[in-house]
Amino acid sequence: MPSRPASLGQLRAAVAAGRVTRRSVKDEIRENLIERLRAGAPLFPGIIGYDDTVVPQIVNAILSKHNFILLGLRGQAKSRILRALTSLLDEWIPVVPGCEIHDNPLAPLCAGCRARIREEGDALEVDWLPREARYVEKLATPDVTIADMIGDLDPIKAARSRLHLADELTMHYGLLPRANRGIFAINELPDLAGKIQVGLFNILQEGDVQIKGYPVRLPLDVMMVFSANPEDYTARGKIITPLKDRIGSEIRTHYPTTRHAGMAITTQEAWTARSGHLDLHLPEFVREIVEEVAFQARQDSRVDKRSGVSQRLPISLLENVISNAERRALLAREPIVAPRVTDIYAALPAITGKFELEYEGELRGADAVAREIIRNAVGTVFGGMLATTDYAHVGEWFDLGGTLQVDDTLGADALLARTAAVQGLHDLAGQVGVAADAPPPLLASAVDFVLEGLYAHKKISRSDDWQYQGIEPPRRPARTAPGDPLERELPLTGNKKKYYN
Ligand SMILES: [Zn+2]
Repeated sequence: MPSRPASLGQLRAAVAAGRVTRRSVKDEIRENLIERLRAGAPLFPGIIGYDDTVVPQIVNAILSKHNFILLGLRGQAKSRILRALTSLLDEWIPVVPGCEIHDNPLAPLCAGCRARIREEGDALEVDWLPREARYVEKLATPDVTIADMIGDLDPIKAARSRLHLADELTMHYGLLPRANRGIFAINELPDLAGKIQVGLFNILQEGDVQIKGYPVRLPLDVMMVFSANPEDYTARGKIITPLKDRIGSEIRTHYPTTRHAGMAITTQEAWTARSGHLDLHLPEFVREIVEEVAFQARQDSRVDKRSGVSQRLPISLLENVISNAERRALLAREPIVAPRVTDIYAALPAITGKFELEYEGELRGADAVAREIIRNAVGTVFGGMLATTDYAHVGEWFDLGGTLQVDDTLGADALLARTAAVQGLHDLAGQVGVAADAPPPLLASAVDFVLEGLYAHKKISRSDDWQYQGIEPPRRPARTAPGDPLERELPLTGNKKKYYN
């Protein structure tokens, strides 16, 4: 912008002529938001699934000029929303060059800047600060000190030089003063020690704070935003009441409410467009199952609900699933990467670190819990797609003694050849959205899905090393007709007389 004033004199003239506006950060954000709402422009590009819930509440908080807090579990895009507020700041603001707290040349806080303006007057050079430099973020931890957050001073030096203690010559600024004229975000607010919370409150309330017992005046112009886990935030004693009172709006975030919304986020975030000479064909059912894994984990009683299951789970999972398929394609020298359900099981390392287990889950082990969650997810998606399909004949092939050994490194041609004998299995592949003339790696993925779907629905069984076979004969005396093949295999035939005659 060549027309930006370069000196204090030019800046004063520009303000007088109305070409540059002087306003507080909260007014600036509010007015820019109003402009964006009027223009019908997107408010938070890339934030999916919050249009009817979280976004309207944030808009209201900004219009109210509130400091606000986002309450939500991990992986609910809280930090991302807070960072996106930066886009509501002016593109550039005038500052005194070199000032650590980005003093406004028209109203400087620190003595250094005031002295410079006294000396240089309208000739003082003016710098322009881009909006990206006006966002300061801090992850709260119990060891954060007043010095980190607000600043520190050197009383001996102050006493010797007979300077007022609020003088910046004796003060080392912490993060909050450095966020002056911008946005200061504190993540996990309840982890901040009570003493620091009191300091923050005093700054918000009065613009005054005590450092080492000395009063320091810092009338900062800052928009404060916070994030926290809802249980920590509402726990008694974790947040000092006066600070809570100064946070104008509490806004609850949430996980995607539908599988479709979750898939849209995962598609946006996961790294799927990869370099190399391989061609990725990602079947829709793999996407659905990957997303459903997160939904199943969030409702699994063995997974800790208080910490939640981050949206980063399906994102990392999808990336790892594609990588396993990539590895197989490379080993089998296939030009097409077609992820399979089997690849989801191979991607356990992308799942097990993404949730905390309850005691019952700990006993079971993270790997076992993750496998059961995947199996439930496969069953849910498979049930939705093949609800009305008759696949009994495939189960019969296995019940009559057929077995099938596969693994996640088996190339497409080998897998299709090996499964061709299973009566009706290849026909079912058409039911999961893969055309009969699709490339072999996609057909192989469809066949793999059907096998895993039948396993999830307990129509066939499978060992941990990927051998599919018939389900075990029922462990109850069934009313079978004489000569039925099942009857001969029943282990309980000896008891039949006792119960039925
Ligand atoms: Zn200054």
